[in-house]
Amino acid sequence: MLPLIKGILLGPPDHPVTVRGWVRTKRDMKNLVFVEVHDGSSFKGIQCTFDSTALDEGTLALLGDLNTGAAVEVQGLLQSSPGAGQALEVAAQALKVLGPAPAEPKDGEPPYPLQKKRHSMEFLREIAHLRPRTNTFGAVTRVRNRLSYAVHQFFQDRSFQYIHTPIITASDGEGAGSMFQVTTLDLAALAKSGKEPDYSQDFFGRWTGLAVSGQLEAEAYAAALTRVYTFGPTFRAENSHTTRHLSEFWMIEPEVAFADLEDNMALGEDFLKFLFKTILTDCQEDLEFFDTHVEKGLIKTLESVAEARFTHMTYTDAIKELEKAGPFEFKPYWGCDIQTEHERYLAETVAQGPLVVTDYPKEIKAFYMKLNDDKKTVRAMDILVPRLGEIIGGSQREEDYSKLQSRIIQLGMNPEDYRWYLDLRRYGTMPHAGFGLGFERLIQYVTGMANIRDVIPFPRSPGQAEF
Ligand code: ATP
Ligand code: MN
Repeated sequence: MLPLIKGILLGPPDHPVTVRGWVRTKRDMKNLVFVEVHDGSSFKGIQCTFDSTALDEGTLALLGDLNTGAAVEVQGLLQSSPGAGQALEVAAQALKVLGPAPAEPKDGEPPYPLQKKRHSMEFLREIAHLRPRTNTFGAVTRVRNRLSYAVHQFFQDRSFQYIHTPIITASDGEGAGSMFQVTTLDLAALAKSGKEPDYSQDFFGRWTGLAVSGQLEAEAYAAALTRVYTFGPTFRAENSHTTRHLSEFWMIEPEVAFADLEDNMALGEDFLKFLFKTILTDCQEDLEFFDTHVEKGLIKTLESVAEARFTHMTYTDAIKELEKAGPFEFKPYWGCDIQTEHERYLAETVAQGPLVVTDYPKEIKAFYMKLNDDKKTVRAMDILVPRLGEIIGGSQREEDYSKLQSRIIQLGMNPEDYRWYLDLRRYGTMPHAGFGLGFERLIQYVTGMANIRDVIPFPRSPGQAEF
């Protein structure tokens, strides 16, 4: 494999190099033709400078026809650049066009859609297969990659075991009823016959769907290996058309035995800070781009939240803050679900940074959360951040068998469906806690990208699954 542009740019100068990549721009200046070539290995591309007085006819013709988007191979000498904007450039001697990208319609084919101008995010979503070739999506992709690796570094350094939880599951982890169904039943035939589907005749002999979370299964492993985490795709069939929800997203879920809510909050805070620090050091150029073009002040914000203590507040106190403020579209009261507008107000105006809200009313949280002594609230914690609202949702889990069982019955769920989950409390139960971090929300936060559809390569959202 050839060296990448990222490596070539480290020098030293004055040796021959071969560059392969895609043309980003071409500029003519008197005898000189400047071709900027990118290969995605770094934010910067490399400038290849052709002196047209020194080129043969064939190369001149190729250069004349060269357009943005073409795949090329350039040979030349790496040297210090006299121009501003780059330390090194290639004094180009030979050019091969591996794959042209016409700027005008040709032979009945449309031209390359990414020309040298700013394109809207909406337009780029329609060409999700080509958008990785833009500055923005290159930067998002590198940040996403570095953070994926950092997630494993963080947990592996702390002796967490990485576990793989099933994607097809019969348990509704959130009890929220927002699962995609998985079936091999002939639904069209059933509809014609007017019969109800019989799931005992389905592929798995029962109703199944795509996992909304890996938590319940992770709990089984925490109850044996103490510290575990998952990092995988999750699916939610909620019909929400927001800039913060996807139908398929990636979630990181640590689960820790012998841990309580305080341990859980500290883990969440340490984890986020570790991730912020990692990209501040390792994705500088990409972050500078986001800071200049996407969200002014981004780097400063990340630097400060990576150091400061997160604010802590109970749900009850958060509601008091909200009642003092407003007006909100949705009027807050004790017992209400905290809406995004409330989450943002709390993080942006009250805490002015990340905020951990704890002890929510049990009615608005999932069945597995540990009941407080007041019998009204549960040991839940959400971490809220400016711009987005919730980024982490977690809790200490109910470890008491009879309390958990009565909660399941109270909520009208079938205890038989949760038999294996209740076993974890029947045998060798212990206090334990965990949380879920939405990976795309994290990337939105650190890049400043406004829409969650633009921080995952091929977004799935209601009505959208092309590519
Ligand atoms: P929200 O209230 O924001 O819809 P939630 O309370 O339904 O989120 P949880 O079930 O607590 O979310 O999931 C844990 C984390 O997963 C959330 O904190 C969030 O970061 C992320 N998340 C949840 N739903 C989505 C989604 N549809 N798309 C992307 N990320 C999501
Ligand atoms: Mn939540």
